[in-house]
Amino acid sequence: MGGKMKALVKHKAGYGAELQWVDIPAIKSDEVLIKVKVSSICGTDVHIYTWDDWSKSRVNPPYTFGHEFAGEVVEVGNEVKNVEVGDFVSAETHIVCGRCPQCLTGKEHICRETKIIGVDTHGCFAEYVALPAKNIWKNDPLIPFDHASLQEPMGNAVQTVLSGEIVGKSVAIIGCGPIGLMAVAVAKASGLLGFTP
Ligand SMILES: [Zn+2]
Ligand SMILES: [Zn+2]
Repeated sequence: MGGKMKALVKHKAGYGAELQWVDIPAIKSDEVLIKVKVSSICGTDVHIYTWDDWSKSRVNPPYTFGHEFAGEVVEVGNEVKNVEVGDFVSAETHIVCGRCPQCLTGKEHICRETKIIGVDTHGCFAEYVALPAKNIWKNDPLIPFDHASLQEPMGNAVQTVLSGEIVGKSVAIIGCGPIGLMAVAVAKASGLLGFTP
């Protein structure tokens, strides 16, 4: 595609970020290019912005951060089969290697080579983001963009609630920020018996 785009760049090792003109990312044959419609701000992004101890030990500026988004596919690599131009999508934010023993035995969540979008790679606080097609989640077109941008944190809520046996039980969800509130919805949808708002 080529050309320039606006991106929120973690421009230096220190507090803050800078809006810059950067190159629109070029995609590889197994990647797709997405026009970002909405991004949401994760606690991780706040760590990166404020440059706390975790960020200092993990993040390598300059790069574009952000990992929660919804957008429209505008270009696909020539090996991509699961996504088409025009699809409304969000993404699984962990990019795994696909070659290590963990990846090859269905345990991709503990791949040692995992890269997180917007932490280890260029992220979605930009007009466009390039991602591996295998990380793409297609959204129902009826979901509003700003709701679909929360697919990634909702994945955290789903994973957390379903990591234990909750059907037919009462559970306490402590700390009702956005993910906690989504955990309430997931627990109710999973057959939870007791619910006290
Ligand atoms: Zn997040
Ligand atoms: Zn791996």
